[in-house]
Amino acid sequence: MTLDTVLARIDETLPEAVDRLLELLRIPSVSTDPAFAEACASAADWLVDDLCELGFDASVRPTPGHPMVMARAKGPGKHILFYGHYDVQPVDPLNLWNRDPFDPELQDTPKGRVIRGRGASDDKGQLMTFLEACRAWKAVHGTLPGNLTIFLEGEEESGSPSLVPFMEENAEELRADLALICDTGLFADKPAIVTMLRGLAGDEVTITGPSKDLHSGMYGGLAMNPLRLLTKILGGMFDDQGRVTIPGFYDDVRELPDEIRAQWQGLGFDHAGFLGEVGLSLPAGEQDRTPLEMLWSRPTAEINGMWGGYQGAGSKTVIPSQAFAKLTFRLVPGMDPEKVQTLFRDWVRAQVPADCTVSFSPKAGAPASEMAVGDPAFEAARLALSEEWGQPAAFVGCGGSIPIAGHFKTVLGMDAMLIGFGRDDDQIHSPNEKYDLECFHKGIRSWARVLDRIAG
Ligand SMILES: [Zn+2]
Repeated sequence: MTLDTVLARIDETLPEAVDRLLELLRIPSVSTDPAFAEACASAADWLVDDLCELGFDASVRPTPGHPMVMARAKGPGKHILFYGHYDVQPVDPLNLWNRDPFDPELQDTPKGRVIRGRGASDDKGQLMTFLEACRAWKAVHGTLPGNLTIFLEGEEESGSPSLVPFMEENAEELRADLALICDTGLFADKPAIVTMLRGLAGDEVTITGPSKDLHSGMYGGLAMNPLRLLTKILGGMFDDQGRVTIPGFYDDVRELPDEIRAQWQGLGFDHAGFLGEVGLSLPAGEQDRTPLEMLWSRPTAEINGMWGGYQGAGSKTVIPSQAFAKLTFRLVPGMDPEKVQTLFRDWVRAQVPADCTVSFSPKAGAPASEMAVGDPAFEAARLALSEEWGQPAAFVGCGGSIPIAGHFKTVLGMDAMLIGFGRDDDQIHSPNEKYDLECFHKGIRSWARVLDRIAG
């Protein structure tokens, strides 16, 4: 079988693959600090050279910020786009590293061999898993797998300012049948494909009562205190089962398909351990939902901050004129950020008495994304990952947002499959970042298996 030959090739050439990754890691491509702009350009050039050597038609594409790397290899079948980023986080505090972050090496640790260095896991090591899979494929087949575009960004760690304009300008070239994004991790030790990302809505509320701060002896009992009103309103935002009480809040929420719920149950999520890490133990969401549903497939309302009145030293007998709160809502597929904001505002307004006024200042929102798991490529990738890791891979959710996946959908109308091999203890964005050699090796093998099933 040819796949076996490709996998054997990956095993035999692993030392060379590690050497190539170490070379890329030596380039200090910190995107946020202008002092490293040249290094960012060098990393892009290094990747273009490597992609050309692999047989891609590759080039550096300038942007107002750091350049993009684009590479194309035309072939039969589905057009697949692979995304990764070559920029890295700053390294400080430098004294907490056990070696120079840009002088990477293989280290033996009690948990196995690791590749230590800035960017090892986020995201150079991860993006190289895909390139190395292509390399082994080419060596065995003589051609690259299928119909591929590689798209590598150099500003992911600094907010991707050039990304959306670049996507809009180069939409024709970038639009593929499916995007693969390698910038996520395993779930505990299980392979996972992220298929749901929550969205966000936000608002800031100001309630004004009296026209100025008042003396609580002179006015207390007669004058309304806006903090009393705001705490009463927000205190009523949850019932004792953890449900949000804003009318209509759950109307558009889609129920999780049974097969996904079953997969999540199979993940054996240790919610006590997860909460234990932050000094908690009790799931605080809707009590009739599992902890993973609370995190991934159910919407939330959070009071992020509340303030008003006197907060200095000692006490002051004041009835403040105004009370404030900032809120955000995590949204799930089906929910519209503007509608959620309207529901919230209507609900607050209905509770404000005639004497007080309320105003809002909107925050930008984004809908949740849900990938088309009905596309056979998802099931094919799930099977490929399950084979490589010797345990069933799952379609998982992500409580936060991964902006690139949303941009592929909104700008280019493409679904994205998020597959990554990082581990929770990789210390990305922190001192002593590492990528397990096993993750790098099995990551390369995973892509070979995925490409074998979906490319061409
Ligand atoms: Zn990343």
